[in-house]
Amino acid sequence: LKYFELLGLAFKINKMNYDPPKTVTLSAILPNPSILLMGAGPVPISEEVKKASGIVFSHLGSTMQTIIKNLQTMARYVFQTNSTRILAVAGPASASMEMAMSSLVWPGRKVLVVNLGTFSQRFKDMTEGLGGSVTEVKPLGINFVTEAQVKSILEKESFDVLTIVHGETSCGIQNMELSKITKLAKSYGLKVVVDVVVTVSCMPVLMDEWGIDIMFTGGQKGISAIAGISLIAFSESVFEFIQNRKELFPHWCLDIRRAWKFWGLGEYHYTAPVPGILALYEGLRLICEETLEVRFERHLKSSLFLQDEIEKMGLSFYAPRYCRLNSVVAINTPQGVDTKALIAHMIKFSSVEISGAFGLSIFRIGQMGEQCREENVQRTLAALKLALEVNFFNL
Ligand SMILES: *Cc1c(COP(=O)(O)O)cnc(C)c1O
Repeated sequence: LKYFELLGLAFKINKMNYDPPKTVTLSAILPNPSILLMGAGPVPISEEVKKASGIVFSHLGSTMQTIIKNLQTMARYVFQTNSTRILAVAGPASASMEMAMSSLVWPGRKVLVVNLGTFSQRFKDMTEGLGGSVTEVKPLGINFVTEAQVKSILEKESFDVLTIVHGETSCGIQNMELSKITKLAKSYGLKVVVDVVVTVSCMPVLMDEWGIDIMFTGGQKGISAIAGISLIAFSESVFEFIQNRKELFPHWCLDIRRAWKFWGLGEYHYTAPVPGILALYEGLRLICEETLEVRFERHLKSSLFLQDEIEKMGLSFYAPRYCRLNSVVAINTPQGVDTKALIAHMIKFSSVEISGAFGLSIFRIGQMGEQCREENVQRTLAALKLALEVNFFNL
């Protein structure tokens, strides 16, 4: 203060009303050893992603332009599309879902929702929030929704949009007739929105060939980057349709026309989440280097091995083989076992975390990206065995 006094500058800092809180360092809070994430997401990240997500620089300018251009090229390959309308959204996969729905739905619009569970239901919630009307089609029993079911509805009534989730994470069921349904809906003139959050980059998803208008995923699932950033693609034709829409957009951040100012022209929309975009970049780069073919085989082998071993332990699956989702495997909790206690035991004694479920008596093991490594699968199986044995002796 003396120096400033000599300069004749008097500083008076007002006393604050509240004292600073006692702080706690992160290392005092975070689990040590760290927990291996083998649930329905987030998933473990590579060293490359870890490093990238700690870098900051300006979101405007030539460095960012190069990042964006390359990211879009890589994402096109991963989504198997020729569309140039591909971008990241600052927000979870649900924010991309919201961008998709608010682009296509307004009062008076009719949406056919293929509903397999929690995440399919989110499309319904958003449609209703936007003032659109919803018709649901649900599977008969533990199954996917068939093309025939959708066809009988489309023959009777007209709709503007169809929504469908490729892999329904909440119950571990895959919509096995997805491509038939999307092509059918397209032939009836519907806009087709697909949630590929837990399938793209884990198994074949062909955006253009399947007639998909909008599809999206989150950073923390198959791509094995981080949460809070998501990736969404629009077909050229749906992009044009949205550009020409007359109705006002309900969102500002999630308005694709505004977002395209940044992703298409490099102009300011909102401050882009550079570390998240870089994490996505590295996740996508590793997928491109591995190639989709090799990656799909790694995922399939890993998941089938996991399922074999689980069967050997005397456990059963929620979904039958023909509609079982390989990227998030849902396992019936055995009689007399408490799912929460099982998961807690695995975390406490093995530092492995898997997921419970919303309502159903199942637990779920993820097989996305970095989860499909032999050491991770072996560690998970060992942790599960241990937890079940303890549970057995406690009966
Ligand atoms: C995880 C998940 C979502 C939601 O992702 P958030 O990033 O939590 O918004 C949507 N759909 C499916 C199929 C998911 O597995």
